[in-house]
Amino acid sequence: MTSSGELAASVARRVGETIEIPGIVSAHSHAFQRALRGRTHSGGAGSFWSWRGLMYRVASSITPDDAYAIARLAYLELACAGVTTVGEFHYVHHQPDGRPYDDRLAMSEAMIAAARDVGIRIALLRVIYARAGQGAGPEGAQRRFSDPDVDRALQDIDDLRGRYHGARDVRVGLAPHSVRAVPPAWLTHASDYAREHNLPLHMHLAEQPREIVECLNETGRRPIELAADLGLLSPRFVAVHATHLGPGEAALLGDARAFVCVCRTTERDLGDGAPDLTSLRSSGAQICFGVDSHALSDPFVEARAAELDERTRVGARAVAMSGSDLLLASARHDSVGFSRRDGGRVSLATDRLSFCAPPNEGKELDDFVAFGASASSVHGVVAQRTIDPKRVELTQAAQVRRAYIRTVTRLI
Ligand SMILES: [Zn+2]
Repeated sequence: MTSSGELAASVARRVGETIEIPGIVSAHSHAFQRALRGRTHSGGAGSFWSWRGLMYRVASSITPDDAYAIARLAYLELACAGVTTVGEFHYVHHQPDGRPYDDRLAMSEAMIAAARDVGIRIALLRVIYARAGQGAGPEGAQRRFSDPDVDRALQDIDDLRGRYHGARDVRVGLAPHSVRAVPPAWLTHASDYAREHNLPLHMHLAEQPREIVECLNETGRRPIELAADLGLLSPRFVAVHATHLGPGEAALLGDARAFVCVCRTTERDLGDGAPDLTSLRSSGAQICFGVDSHALSDPFVEARAAELDERTRVGARAVAMSGSDLLLASARHDSVGFSRRDGGRVSLATDRLSFCAPPNEGKELDDFVAFGASASSVHGVVAQRTIDPKRVELTQAAQVRRAYIRTVTRLI
């Protein structure tokens, strides 16, 4: 009840013995990294950069068939957890030596096919990649990610858009990888193209302290300042991570109504620090969430981690996002170019030991779901088709797992 005695509207609602919430979007995914789950935690102290070495080993050898097998399992797992739309930040494009496949879009097509076969929507956020760093060409696995010039990358994006023009379940967006991997002149070009065609523009931004130092050395500006100066920021822009903010950078994102995609499980897994969610929220930045490295695939854990980690950071409770805020941010399908209205829905069963006796309605119901539900609470998902997690286990799961295990055993 509100102070005036009226029930506050909730995002979640009771439907018989279940609770229904909007379909969930995971706005930042690298599906092939699902192959690394649980395999990067030993070997002594490390960092993002040592983890990246392992990730590059897989990236340097996967084929389109491998990418499909891994993505199919990764997306099926997400779908059974309530995700109806994925934003795939896709960067392994070419053959291991850097030459394009006969079909230049073979790897993108593998990701789209995996999402369609599972029955979820996909935004293929085609990565643009140029270099190892300032003045250094692509090295090793990076040759698979890179194009000789920005127009060649934009041509591929044009071709993808042509193939999926009018498709209800596929969107195409641009993803300049980071300020480290993409020079400022390419960023301007990519941003112009995204504006001209009204496409989502996603970018890893302010993820690593080393990235900030290198950007300052190259341009005299921090990454978010540079993005603002180059005119990248808008409500179509998604800054992935925004972990290391300088003074005034939250305001730059907020003034532009840009998104920040928070991926707490991966950020924690990599020891990357936590964003200043309170400043981002109060400045007006929009928030969405991502599974990123697929270190874990539970969108409920992912969403509440944003608020819980902010509580840890500032030493207080209920600081940045309420349960209702978390559920709404979990359903920002517009962050990847889809309408917010037709994102499907998720029903949660209340007959589970871990998720029983919810309040009837109101903000308390939203809090109960946002802070108490998990992937195992999901009873059914209406995505591009109806997905029943229990039935998936009995039917498709074994075959999808077998194909995945065959692939991962060979790769790792
Ligand atoms: Zn990422």
